[in-house]
Amino acid sequence: MKVNQAEIVISAVSEKQYPQEQYPEFALAGRSNVGKSSLINKLINRKNLARTSSKPGKTQTLNFYLINESLYFVDVPGYGYAQVSKKERAKWGGMMEEYFKNREPLRAVILITDLRHEPTTDDVQMYDYLKFFELPVIVIGTKLDKIPKTKKDKHIKRSKKVLEIDPDDIFIPFSAETGEGKDAVWGAIKSFIAE
Ligand code: GDP
Repeated sequence: MKVNQAEIVISAVSEKQYPQEQYPEFALAGRSNVGKSSLINKLINRKNLARTSSKPGKTQTLNFYLINESLYFVDVPGYGYAQVSKKERAKWGGMMEEYFKNREPLRAVILITDLRHEPTTDDVQMYDYLKFFELPVIVIGTKLDKIPKTKKDKHIKRSKKVLEIDPDDIFIPFSAETGEGKDAVWGAIKSFIAE
């Protein structure tokens, strides 16, 4: 997909603030530092529309990006900060539940994992959490460029196994460095948008 327009519309903390326009929506979730901002920027051909390496402790918001006046990307705050307080975690959980449980335009969640390593406990928990809400998930295994070509299949197989990925869900190896997998990600997104 050729992206001509991408702009942040709102940083929301609660349902009242979500955009009213009903475009198909795709949430992006991942452990902090996994490469989520790099993925978003690669998909929309920008250097730094999505902030890279958001730090813990900073305001946790759902950032809605309007793409080509036709769909939203919703950047979900990174999970898995050991240093986050219980209170912060509860706040994060409340915000996530409000969004994932009720958001009608949400078509699928893009879950970003690091293909170099086994999905972490946090990754597995997040995947299970999304499946609890019966959401379709597009799993991305990023940093593909860091893996020798001969080991690619092994890493993909291991990731799928550890996540116990639903056969209906899609797994896409990706690199924000080389752009490999970018067309596959757009293809997967489009498969959730009715013509
Ligand atoms: P975020 O916190 O999930 O948004 O992560 P960032 O997008 O800021 O990425 C974290 C670090 O990983 C940065 O140093 C990126 O340059 C690096 N990174 C992200 N994606 C890739 C990738 O596909 N390949 C490589 N080699 N590095 C990546």
